[in-house]
Amino acid sequence: MSAADAIVVGSGPNGLVAAVTLARAGRKVVLLEAADGFGGGLRSGELTLPGRVHDLGATVVAMALASPAFRGLELKGVEFAHPAVAAAHPLDDRPAVLVHRDARRTAEGLGRDARAWLATVGATARAGFPLVELLLKPLGPWDAPPRAFAQAIRFGLAGALPATTFARRAFRTTEARALIAGMAAHSKLDLRSPISAGYGLLLAGLAHLVGWPLVRGGSQVLADALVAELRSLGGEAVSGHRVRRLAELDAPTVVLDVTPRQFLAMAELPAGYRRRLQRFRYGAGVFKVDWALDGPVPWRDPAVAGAGTVHLGGTLEEIALSEAEAVAGRVSPRPYVLVVQPYAADPTRGGHTLYAYCHVPHGSPVDMTGTIETQIERYAPGFRDRVLARHTMSPADLEAYNPNLVGGDISGGVADLVQFLRRPVWSPAPWRTPLPGVFLCSASTPPGSAVHGMGGWQAARLALRD
Ligand SMILES: Cc1cc2nc3c(=O)[nH]c(=O)nc-3n(C[C@H](O)[C@H](O)[C@H](O)COP(=O)(O)OP(=O)(O)OC[C@H]3O[C@@H](n4cnc5c(N)ncnc54)[C@H](O)[C@@H]3O)c2cc1C
Repeated sequence: MSAADAIVVGSGPNGLVAAVTLARAGRKVVLLEAADGFGGGLRSGELTLPGRVHDLGATVVAMALASPAFRGLELKGVEFAHPAVAAAHPLDDRPAVLVHRDARRTAEGLGRDARAWLATVGATARAGFPLVELLLKPLGPWDAPPRAFAQAIRFGLAGALPATTFARRAFRTTEARALIAGMAAHSKLDLRSPISAGYGLLLAGLAHLVGWPLVRGGSQVLADALVAELRSLGGEAVSGHRVRRLAELDAPTVVLDVTPRQFLAMAELPAGYRRRLQRFRYGAGVFKVDWALDGPVPWRDPAVAGAGTVHLGGTLEEIALSEAEAVAGRVSPRPYVLVVQPYAADPTRGGHTLYAYCHVPHGSPVDMTGTIETQIERYAPGFRDRVLARHTMSPADLEAYNPNLVGGDISGGVADLVQFLRRPVWSPAPWRTPLPGVFLCSASTPPGSAVHGMGGWQAARLALRD
C-alpha cells in the first residue's frame, strides 16, 4: 500500500469518482472499503428472495445523468432505464398527478396551474445543464455562460423560499401544491424552512431535463463499472477493510468518503478545525422497507403503475406536517412515503420488487413497517396481499451497513441553508482539510447528498492541483 500515490477511503459514488479521476490523471490509487461490497449508497443485493435484486440505497439516478462528474466518465456497460412516467403523486379523492419527461404534458395535467408549472419547474429544465452545473458546483470552478448566472439568480429567488411558501405563491391547485411538496420532501427538511423549495424545483426540473432513470440491473452495476474502470487504470480496490486511524495510511494523498463524525474519530486535528467539525449537524433518519411482490402494486389509479417513483402522503399540508414531525423528533402516524417501483422501468431485477421509506426522527428505534404499508394501502387497496417477503432497515440498520448514514441520515448531514453554505465547514474549498494531502469528499461536502459524484470530483481536482 505504501506504493500508492493516493488512498481513497470509502467506495460510495463520491469515493469512486475521486478514485477514477485520480487514476485517469495517472496516479496509482488504492481504494479501501469497509463493507464486503463496493458502492456505499449504490449497493444492490438479494434482500428478500433469491434472485430478487434490491438497491440498498439509491435507485433513481437523475443526478448522475445531470452531473458533470459522471457525464465526463462515459462508463462502459451501464444502461439507464426510464419509466414511462418519471413520478406519480396519488391523491385520495381525485386522479393521481403525473410528472412526465415532457414538461408540457405534465403541465396539461395541472389544469389552472399549467402555466405556473412551465414558468417555474419548466424554466429550471429549460435552463438546462449550465444551470444544473452551477447548482452542483456552488463554489466553482465556473465555466458557465453568463446567461446561466442570470438563470441561477432567478432560480435562487424562488428556490431560497420554504417549499410551503413557494407552493402557495406559485400554484393554486391542490395537485400542483402536493406535487412540489412531494419533490421538496426529498430534502428531509421541514418544508417551512428556507431553500426547501430549491430542492423541489431542481428535482422536478431534472425529471424534464434528463428523466428519473434507474440503472438497468440495479445501482450496483454503476458501482461495479467504476471499480472496473479504476482497476483497468492500474488501481487497486479492496473491500472488507475499515480504516480506523488515518495514521494507518501511507500515501501523499488521502481522500476520505466519510462524514465529519468519522473523520473526528480517525484523525488528530487542529483544535479550531475540530471544533468546527463538531458543530456539524446530522438530521432526521430513514426507515426503509423492501418487498418481493407476486405482481405489480394494485394502485387505485392505474396511471401510477407506469411511474418509477411514487410520492405518498396526500396534500401539501399533510406532507409538510409529517416532515415537520420527523425533524422535530416525533414519529408521524401518516408519514410522507417515498416509493420506488423498479419494475416500471427495469424487468431484469428478478420480478416485482418494491422499496419505500419514510423520514423518522434521528436514530428512531420505532418500527415503521405497518405505518408505511398502511400509507400504501391508502392508495393501493390489497397491496399487502401481494407481499411475498419483506426486509426492513431501521436507522440503526442503515448505519450498520454504511457508517456514513449516521442515525439513519441518508443526506450526510442536515442540508438546510446553513449547512448548504457550511458543509462541513465554511470555506471556499471545504473538501480540503488542515492536514496536508488529506481531503474530504462525502455527501457531507458540497453539493451534498445524491448520486452525482461531485464531492469526489472536487476533492480529486484539488489533490491533483496541489
Ligand atoms: C435508502 C437510500 C435511498 C437513497 N435514494 C437515492 C436516490 O434514489 N437517488 C440519489 O441520487 N441518491 C439517493 N440516496 C443518497 C445517495 O445514496 C447518497 O447521497 C450517496 O450514496 C452519497 O455518496 P457518498 O460517496 O458520499 O457516500 P456513501 O454512498 O454513503 O458511501 C460511503 C462509503 O464509505 C464507506 N466507509 C465509511 N467509513 C469507512 C471507513 N472508515 N473505512 C472504509 N470505508 C468506509 C462506507 O462503507 C460506504 O461504502 C439514497 C440513500 C439511501 C441510504
